[in-house]
Amino acid sequence: MAESGATLSNLSTESRSFPPSEEFAAQANATEDWYDRADGDREAFWAEQADRLSWAQKWDKVLEWDAPFAKWFVGGKLNVAYNCVDRHVEAGHGEQVAFYWEGEPGDTRTITYADLQREVSKAANALAELGVQAGDRVAIQLPMIPEAVFSMLACARLGALHSVVFGGFSPGALKARIEDAEAKVLITSDGQYRRGKPVPMKENTDEAVKDTPTIEHVLVVKRTETDVPWTEGRDIWWHDLVDRQSEEHTPEAFDSENPLFILYTSGTTGKPKGILHTSGGFLTQTAYTHNAVFDHKPGESVYWCTADIGWVTGHSYIVYGPLANRATSVMYEGTPNTPHEGRHWEIIQKYGVSIYYTAPTLIRTFMKWGKDIPEKYDLSSLRVLGTVGEPINPEAWMWYRENIGHNNCPIVDTWWQTETGAIMIAPLPGVSATKPGSAMRALPGIAATVVDENGTPVGNGEGGYLVLDQPWPAMLRGIWGDEERYRDTYWSRFADQGYYFAGDGAKYDDDGAMWLLGRVDDVMNVSGHRISTTEVESALVSHPTVAEAAVVGASDPTTGQGIVAFVILRGGVAEDEAKGEEAIKALRDHVSKEIGPIAKPRQIMVVDELPKTRSGKIMRRLLRDVAENREVGDVTTLADSTVMDLISSGMKDNK
Ligand code: ATP
Ligand code: MG
Repeated sequence: MAESGATLSNLSTESRSFPPSEEFAAQANATEDWYDRADGDREAFWAEQADRLSWAQKWDKVLEWDAPFAKWFVGGKLNVAYNCVDRHVEAGHGEQVAFYWEGEPGDTRTITYADLQREVSKAANALAELGVQAGDRVAIQLPMIPEAVFSMLACARLGALHSVVFGGFSPGALKARIEDAEAKVLITSDGQYRRGKPVPMKENTDEAVKDTPTIEHVLVVKRTETDVPWTEGRDIWWHDLVDRQSEEHTPEAFDSENPLFILYTSGTTGKPKGILHTSGGFLTQTAYTHNAVFDHKPGESVYWCTADIGWVTGHSYIVYGPLANRATSVMYEGTPNTPHEGRHWEIIQKYGVSIYYTAPTLIRTFMKWGKDIPEKYDLSSLRVLGTVGEPINPEAWMWYRENIGHNNCPIVDTWWQTETGAIMIAPLPGVSATKPGSAMRALPGIAATVVDENGTPVGNGEGGYLVLDQPWPAMLRGIWGDEERYRDTYWSRFADQGYYFAGDGAKYDDDGAMWLLGRVDDVMNVSGHRISTTEVESALVSHPTVAEAAVVGASDPTTGQGIVAFVILRGGVAEDEAKGEEAIKALRDHVSKEIGPIAKPRQIMVVDELPKTRSGKIMRRLLRDVAENREVGDVTTLADSTVMDLISSGMKDNK
C-alpha cells in the first residue's frame, strides 16, 4: 500500500472557476497591483493602511518584531472608539445610519452615528462612574442588542478591555472567563429572546458572579421585562445609571499597543484560551480587510454580518472594522428561523442589504430548508457574499452563489481565526477569480504558506500544514496571563523556522490556489493515506440528497482508520428511501467516484442533527467517540447537548 507520509493526500478536484466581472472590477476598491506593492515593501503597505485611521499622534516605526512578540505602529497614539464613531460625526456624517437593528420579536431601532456618539459617551461616563479605568477588564454577556456595541465601544473609549462572553454560555463558562480576566464589572441583561420566547439571563449571570470577588458591579440592561433577582449595592439598571450621564465624553488617546480586548476562543478543540488583542494594528487590519474583501462603500453599502457579538467575527466585522469604515450595518437579534425560515431573506429585502457575511453551517441549513424559501424574496440588492468559520463545501458554495447571489455576486471565503484578529486568506472581489470551496490566496500584506512536517513549503497540487511566516498587524499579542501557553500553542511546532502554526491543514491546487482542509487533528489516516475530513464531507454534500455531512476516522484493524460518515438529508428528500441500504450504497459509491476508492466511507449514518459548538462548528471529536464506541467526551461547549444522545442511540440501532 502506498505510503504518502505525513503530507495530506490531495484527493478531490474542483475545476469550476469564476473570473470577476468587468463591471465589478471597474468599481472595486482593491486592485491587482496591491499584491506586488505589498510584496515589494510590506511595511510601507501597512503604513498606508494605517492611514485609514485617525491618529492623535503618528507612529515612529511600523513594526517592532521580537519573535513571537510584535508591536505595530510603535509610538502612535489613537482612541479606537473615536475612530469608530466621533470622527465620522465630525466629518458631517452624523445623520448616516450606523445600525438598523432588528429585534427577534420584530421591534426595531435605527441608530445614526450621532446617536452612537451620544450613547457611547454616556456609557463611557457611566463606566467611569463605576470606577472603570484604562487597563481594567469589563465582562459583557448580552444578547445581540445595540447596548452590546455601546458597551464595547465605551470600554475602548476608556482604554479598558472588554471580554465578551456569548449569551448562550452557561454560568460556569462565564464564571471561568470572569475569573481568568479578573473582571471588575459585568454588563448583562434581564433576559434574552430565544426562538421567540424570553428566557432569563440575569439569573444565570448571578449564578456566575456568586463567588467572583473581583466583580464590583453588575450593570443590567432591560430587554425582556423578565423578573430578576437583585443584589443591592452591586446591581444597577443600565437605564438608571447610563440615562442620566452627560452625552459628552472626551476620548483620551492611548498607545497603539494598548490592549483592546480579551476574547476566549470557541473551544472546538479544548480549553478556551483568552486571546489578547491591542489597538492600532487590530483596527488597521480590520478596517483594511472590511474595505477590500467586502468592497465596502461608505454611505452606499448596506452591510450585514450575521455573527454573534460573542465571537471574533462579531468583534472584527460587526463592531470595529465596519464602524472604522463608516458602514451602515444591519444587526439582527434572533435566530434565522424565528418566526419563519425566510427571516434572513426578509431582512435583506427590507433594508436592501448589499453585503451579506455568514457561516457555512448556516448556508448548509438553508440548503436543508430548501431553495424555494429564498426564492420568495427580492434579493437583488446583494452585491457581495461572504463566508467564515469552517471550510465551505463546493456544493454549498454553489448553492449560495446560485440561490442567494443569483450568479452575479462574488463569494469571498474568508479564512482567519480569533488569534489572527482579522481576515488573512480570501479572494478580493473584482480582482481575484473565485473557485467553489477555495479561500484562494493570502491578502496583500499577509504571508501564508503550506509546508510539510519539516517546515518545507510544498508545491502545487500538494497539501500540508498552514503556517503564517510573517507578523501581521491584527495578530494576537498573547494568551491572557500565560506567556508559556502562547509560545507552546502557536510557535513551538515550527520553532526552527519561526512560523506561527494555526492548527489547520491546507493544500494548493494545480494553479496554486489555497484550499483549507480543516484542523490537522481531524485528518484521517486510511491505509497510510492522510485524508482530510473536509474533502470527504464535500464529496458527500455534492450528492443531491445530502445537505450536511461530518466525517471522522475510527480505528480499524485492517486500515488503521476507517471513515465513518454522518449525514443530514436535504429538505424534500424522503427519509425512508435515503436511509435504505441501496441509498447508503449509492452514497458510498458516490464518494468513491468523486475522490477515489480510498476515501469510500466504511459506514454512513443518516442523522437529524450534528454536534456543533455555539458558533456552529462541527465537533468531530465527539463523533469519533461514538464511532469508536467510547463514552462521549466533554459536551459543555455544544449548542445542544441532547444531539449526542440521539446520535449515540442511532448508532447502536444501526449495528
Ligand atoms: P478553539 O481554537 O478553541 O478550538 P476555534 O478554532 O473553533 O476554537 P475560532 O478562532 O473561532 O475558534 O475559529 C478559527 C478556526 O475556524 C480556524 O482555525 C479554522 O479551523 C476555521 N475556519 C475559519 N474560517 C475558515 C474558512 N474560511 N475555511 C476553513 N476553515 C475556517
Ligand atoms: Mg482555534
